[in-house]
Amino acid sequence: MKRPDISFELFPPTTANGFDNLGRAVERLKGFDPKYYSVTYGAGGSGQQKSNELISKLSEDSDLTLAAHITLAGASRQEIRDTVKSWQERGIKRLVALRGDGAVPGEAFVPHPDGFQDSVELIAALRELGDFEIAVAAYPDPHPDSRSLADDLEFLKRKQDAGATTAITQFFFEADSYFSFVDAARKAGITIPIIPGILPINNIAQIKRFADRCGATIPDWVSKAFEGLEDSAETSAAVAVSLCLDLCRELIEGGVDAFHFYTLNRSPLTEAVCRLLALQTEQKEAA
Ligand SMILES: Cc1cc2nc3c(=O)[nH]c(=O)nc-3n(C[C@H](O)[C@H](O)[C@H](O)COP(=O)(O)OP(=O)(O)OC[C@H]3O[C@@H](n4cnc5c(N)ncnc54)[C@H](O)[C@@H]3O)c2cc1C
Repeated sequence: MKRPDISFELFPPTTANGFDNLGRAVERLKGFDPKYYSVTYGAGGSGQQKSNELISKLSEDSDLTLAAHITLAGASRQEIRDTVKSWQERGIKRLVALRGDGAVPGEAFVPHPDGFQDSVELIAALRELGDFEIAVAAYPDPHPDSRSLADDLEFLKRKQDAGATTAITQFFFEADSYFSFVDAARKAGITIPIIPGILPINNIAQIKRFADRCGATIPDWVSKAFEGLEDSAETSAAVAVSLCLDLCRELIEGGVDAFHFYTLNRSPLTEAVCRLLALQTEQKEAA
């Protein structure tokens, strides 16, 4: 049994302490031989600058393969092309192409007046810039801006046809959500790999806020598993690892061979899950 491919998502920290956490996470996670580390793209001017700074810093380490996220939010076409060209010069060959969100949460997304209109236009332009691996987002629970699962899938198909080479899902907590989404995607003509996005639950209150914003479902039983653990960090971490490991194992049993971990720049939970998955795979290989 082949060990699943693994990638880790990082975001640009805003404090010195945050940078220390990120540095530790990158070092600890190197041992799992990740296919790449992806760096999210900030929502606004200073956030985007921080993403660029982090990409510059990490690209100095030749041991790391990076994927740079890019959104079309708040930028002209030319600004986006210039940013991506600067990454190309740093040797970046992987992108995660996204629309992004508007400045005001909950309000309809409005593109920049000189910008790409949607992620399909962005992907097509990136495809013209170079021979990138281009990942895009996919939503097992439909995105809040979609009218239906069918519309969401039709749009994902358009992203594929524009040049996306992989999809990474938004986080989910039940393997069936992923499998039924992949089934529906295949029926809709989507053939690119759909890599499950795995979020170990470091802080359930924070994850509920994320879920509210992106339309992801947190099953009641998952919420209940963390009830009363607000002041019990160790028990909460044990529950998080157990849930995440069960989910990954179920996905592997169903044929999944790659995971993208949303690390939130903290390694312990992701590391615990990856260690156990790696050992389990080695044992199966040896048997
Ligand atoms: C793996 C992953 C990584 C992410 N990284 C970042 C990041 O680095 N920075 C950041 O700011 N955000 C990031 N996000 C969040 C993302 O920007 C938001 O979810 C955003 O609201 C949608 O971006 P998208 O590329 O998924 O949108 P899209 O897929 O372009 O649109 C979302 C949905 O809206 C509908 N839609 C949009 N445009 C059209 C259209 N023209 N016609 C018909 N339907 C349409 C479709 O149903 C579509 O599925 C990430 C999300 C994921 C899953």
